[in-house]
Amino acid sequence: MVDLKSQYSHIKSAVDSAILSVIEKAEFINGPEVVSFQAELENYLGVKHVIPCANGTDALQIAMMALGLKPGDEVITPSFTYIATTEVIALLGLVPVFVDVDPKTFCLDPSKIEAAITEKTKVIVPVHLYGHAADMDPIMTIAKKHNLYVVEDNAQAIGCEYTHQDGTVSKTGTIGDIGCTSFFPSKNLGCYGDGGAMCTNNDQLAEELRKIANHGQKVKYYHEVVGCNSRLDSIQAAVLRIKLPRLDAYCDARRKAADFYDNFFSNVEGVTTPFRDKNSKHVFHQYTLTLEGIDRDALNAFLASKDIPSMIYYPVPAHKQKMFESFGCENQELPVTDWLTSRVLSLPMHTELEEDQLNYICSAVAEFIKK
Ligand SMILES: *Cc1c(COP(=O)(O)O)cnc(C)c1O
Repeated sequence: MVDLKSQYSHIKSAVDSAILSVIEKAEFINGPEVVSFQAELENYLGVKHVIPCANGTDALQIAMMALGLKPGDEVITPSFTYIATTEVIALLGLVPVFVDVDPKTFCLDPSKIEAAITEKTKVIVPVHLYGHAADMDPIMTIAKKHNLYVVEDNAQAIGCEYTHQDGTVSKTGTIGDIGCTSFFPSKNLGCYGDGGAMCTNNDQLAEELRKIANHGQKVKYYHEVVGCNSRLDSIQAAVLRIKLPRLDAYCDARRKAADFYDNFFSNVEGVTTPFRDKNSKHVFHQYTLTLEGIDRDALNAFLASKDIPSMIYYPVPAHKQKMFESFGCENQELPVTDWLTSRVLSLPMHTELEEDQLNYICSAVAEFIKK
C-alpha cells in the first residue's frame, strides 16, 4: 500500500547523516532536533504552539486530558474512523457518542451533530478521514453555540488545507481548540518509528498539553496533575525535519496518483472515486473507492493474486466493536457508516507511484469488473 523504501532512497544521505549526528551527540531525548522540528512545524501549519509527543493516539488522549472533563462527559465522534479516535475517549471514562458521516466526504456530517448534543456533551472530534477535510465552519459554529471544545483528529490529513466560507484558508488541525496528528511511518508525514504531535493557538491549553505529556510537571519533580510520559525522540525529529520541507511535494505526488486513478475510473461502472469538496485540498492519505454491485472480497483476492495490495479501512465501524459493548451502541442507526463500511476499498497510495504501476493496478480492477 505504501513504498517507504523508494521514498527513503531519494533522501538517504540526508537522513543517514541526520540520524548519525543525533547518535554522535547522544542527544536522544528532548534534543535540539526536537526543538527545531517543533518550531518548523509551527511555521508550516501557521499555528502558535506545536507540542510533540510519542504517537497520534497519545496526542488524542493528552488533548482529552487537557480539557478538564469528568467521567461520564460525552464526546461526539464519527464511528467511521480508525479505532484510536474513539478508544481514548472510553479509556478516560468519557462516553463516545457516535454521529454519522457525510456520504461524499466520509467525514462527520455537521447536519447530524446537534441532535446528538445533550447536557453532558463537552467535545466534538472531527476526523479528516483519508486526507479530506471535515467541514469545519459549520462544526465550529455548532461548537460555539453549545460551548463545546473541538479536537481535530488530523492524523491522516497533515498538509491538507480547508477554505473557510469567507475565503480564508487554514491548515487542518489548526481550526479547532486542539489538533492531533501522527507521524506513524505510513502517514503523510511519517517518521521511522512512532511519533505524534498536538497543536493549538491557545497559550493556556499549550501549557496544559506540555505539562500532561511530561508527567504533569512544569518544574522538574513538582507534579501538578496526573500526566503521562509521551515524547517524540530526537532521531524521529531529525527524520521529520528532512521530510517536512518535502511534505507539500509529497502531497502533490499523492494528488497526481489520485488524478490518474480518477481519470481511469471515471468510466468504470460500479466504481465511485473519492469526492473532493471545493473547500478541501485533499491530501490522499488513502485513495478509497466506493463499490456498488461489485464483490469486494473477490476483487481484493483477485488484486492480491496479481501482487496488488488493497485494503478495507475499516471493516468494522467503532460503534460495532466489542470494546464498546458496554455502551450499548452496536444497534445504533448510522446508515451512511454501515453503507460505507460494506463498500469501501482502498488502493495503493503513496509518493512513489509510477504511471506503469498505476496502469497495472487500474487495468486489474477493470479486468475483474468486466469478468
Ligand atoms: C493513525 C491514526 C491515529 C493514531 O496514530 P498512531 O500514531 O498510530 O497512534 C489516530 N487517528 C487516526 C484517524 C489515524 O489514522
